[in-house]
Amino acid sequence: MASHIVGYPRMGPKRELKFALESFWDGKSSADDLKKVASDLRASIWKQMIDAGIKYIPSNTFSYYDQVLDTTAMLGAVPPRYGWNGEEIGFDTFFSMARGNASVPAMEMTKWFDTNYHFIVPELGPDVNFSYASHKAVNEYKEAKALGVDTVPVLIGPVSYLVLSKPAKGVDKSFCLLSLLPKVLAIYKEVVADLKQAGASWIQFDEPILVLDLGSQTLQALTAAYAELESTLSGLNVLIETYFADIPAEAYQTLTALNGVAAFGFDLVRGTKTLDLIKGGFPSGKYLFAGVVDGRNIWANNLTASLDTLNSLEGIVGKDKLVVSTSCSLLHTAVDLVNETKLDNEIKSWLAFAAQKIVEVNALAKALSGQKDEAFFSSNADAQASRKFSPRVTNEAVQKAAAALKGSDHRRATNVSTRLDAQQKKLNLPILPTTTIGSFPQTVELRRVRREYKANKISEEEYVSSIKEEIRKVVELQENLDIDVLVHGEPERNDMVEYFGEQLSGFAFTVNGWVQSYGSRCVKPPIIYGDVSRPKPMTVFWSSTAQSMTKRPMKGMLTGPVTILNWSFVRNDQPRSETTYQIALAIKDEVEDLEKAGITVIQIDEAALREGLPLRKSEQANYLDWAVHAFRITNVGVQDTTQIHTHMCYSNFNDIIHSIIDMDADVITIENSRSDEKLLSVFREGVKYGAGIGPGVYDIHSPRIPPTDEIADRINKMLAVLEKNILWVNPDCGLKTRKYPEVNPALTNMVAATKLIRSKLSSGK
Ligand code: GLN
Ligand code: ZN
Repeated sequence: MASHIVGYPRMGPKRELKFALESFWDGKSSADDLKKVASDLRASIWKQMIDAGIKYIPSNTFSYYDQVLDTTAMLGAVPPRYGWNGEEIGFDTFFSMARGNASVPAMEMTKWFDTNYHFIVPELGPDVNFSYASHKAVNEYKEAKALGVDTVPVLIGPVSYLVLSKPAKGVDKSFCLLSLLPKVLAIYKEVVADLKQAGASWIQFDEPILVLDLGSQTLQALTAAYAELESTLSGLNVLIETYFADIPAEAYQTLTALNGVAAFGFDLVRGTKTLDLIKGGFPSGKYLFAGVVDGRNIWANNLTASLDTLNSLEGIVGKDKLVVSTSCSLLHTAVDLVNETKLDNEIKSWLAFAAQKIVEVNALAKALSGQKDEAFFSSNADAQASRKFSPRVTNEAVQKAAAALKGSDHRRATNVSTRLDAQQKKLNLPILPTTTIGSFPQTVELRRVRREYKANKISEEEYVSSIKEEIRKVVELQENLDIDVLVHGEPERNDMVEYFGEQLSGFAFTVNGWVQSYGSRCVKPPIIYGDVSRPKPMTVFWSSTAQSMTKRPMKGMLTGPVTILNWSFVRNDQPRSETTYQIALAIKDEVEDLEKAGITVIQIDEAALREGLPLRKSEQANYLDWAVHAFRITNVGVQDTTQIHTHMCYSNFNDIIHSIIDMDADVITIENSRSDEKLLSVFREGVKYGAGIGPGVYDIHSPRIPPTDEIADRINKMLAVLEKNILWVNPDCGLKTRKYPEVNPALTNMVAATKLIRSKLSSGK
């Protein structure tokens, strides 16, 4: 019985690649230094898989930035603005596409399916001259071979590549990207021939788009593509790998009917219905790569349950055709548990990061072939039992309270316009009120204070007085700028999820549990392992301290339950909705405590609500239903006069606008300036929005200072589609990544633009 790994994290157990990349970009180390770090990492990963006994070991899943960009380089699809000379693509061109350079901006980046990984979107059109311009796949294959490892080279499949692309600037939006298939396939053929010649006996094409709701045209393209490649592929064992969700029945039929393909890989963790499809019929003589070990989470596999699944599959596909695999690339989980020296031992026994998952995959494969490692299985069973029955996981009061929410509805008693009237009487805000999203610049000094307090190097008094000082500065600054609704600047927070996780029960934190987000950027999600509760208030002290420094309203600043969920590693022993309801109840208590402490405006950020949306349409309504409900639960208990704000970090919300309205917040601030047309079009099309709304008037992701007239222009555009009495003026998002020399003039201009328009409005022009 064989074992296979779909893909592996590149960053290294201690983010070695991140530091090597950033040092190279800063000009502090050479290209050779960077290449050395990368090849050492690859070698150690291959060795790890050999040692674990993995049979099908991937190569070309390493990347200096992103695997989709690697494919763009392989195909020579470099947008003309990078001035590429047509030779083998090196670091210069590659990193210019990824990050931009002094004269040209980067290519667009977007989310990889429903993960927190971002890929570089290919820009294609009828004029692209494809050519075999990066030999990375074959080079990595040879590199492994020289180390004695015969790997399975992994390529993004041609159909997924095209479906994930966008028409380049100047190309008609309706341009059919799939019409480029023949041109792209010509290059794939060269690559495949190269790999064959180098000695490869297997090849893996990742076609994750197959789990989406596809039209028949895309499925026909799939059939055509692999038919076209068939003769070139002959002599190779071809694996087509899918992941991230159930595969729709139609796609399953098309896929498994492909000629010349030896093996099909499926995500059997998220794809529970896929199991039924397989049971309903699998082509005889083909390999099934069964993804039973979760690549998206950090929990130890339930080996006994997986073995049951595998046993039943063996009956269908035959003993020698079943391969144990991961549900997707391990890119989306943390790297190695070995480095978690601070994690509590019991919790640690419940976890498996990428390095441990490799061992699990192999243990399952061996068990299937009759060589079950009894000791390994029994310690796994002990860990599963300890997790199931641990008193740290279960809090009956919380479970009861959360269960009681199900099936019922929670809404504030009065409607939004009545509430807004009541709030205005109390707050007495000018028309087009100005505000910011929460954080102010995080200075080096501030980070030092937090770090030293955490390491017990400075006392609590010192810490509190430093943070108070910072808040005082931020409050004064906002008063001087004449902003209407103030924030305290979030100086006490490292991260908007971690800050709350650390104070709630049921969360654990890692030291090195990093996951690549994009390029060299990684995130370290908290682990939600148990029922969530709030032992004591989390933000009331800081918010009331800040409020005491000003007569203007000071926003209480909280992270919403759905965002806390979506940016954490979550429990897999209960539905996500249940965990979210538990968090919602904890945030509800916080909201009510803030209100009691005299805070009249409370912002509950749901920056990540959109990204939790399931890939398949059939599952979206249910998600939106409980996610929006969870948000409403947090503030159902406040008085009419307490103004609830929420904030969202993306502008493509047109498809979920009704859910956003259904959140029933009093005011929503939302990212907008990078695509104002897109966001405002929904209102132009007649969607009624009665609550307050603040589409961002400038982009905080860039150091550029927006001129006053440009901001005024934006506000005018908004006034053309939104009533003046509901419009707020604010930046796109928090200011924590910016510096004061950027923030001061930008906010000065924002307030100036607002005043300009206010005076025009009042003079009736
Ligand atoms: N309140 C947070 C901040 O301003 C919101 C951040 C976010 O939306 N990602 O930093
Ligand atoms: Zn934001």
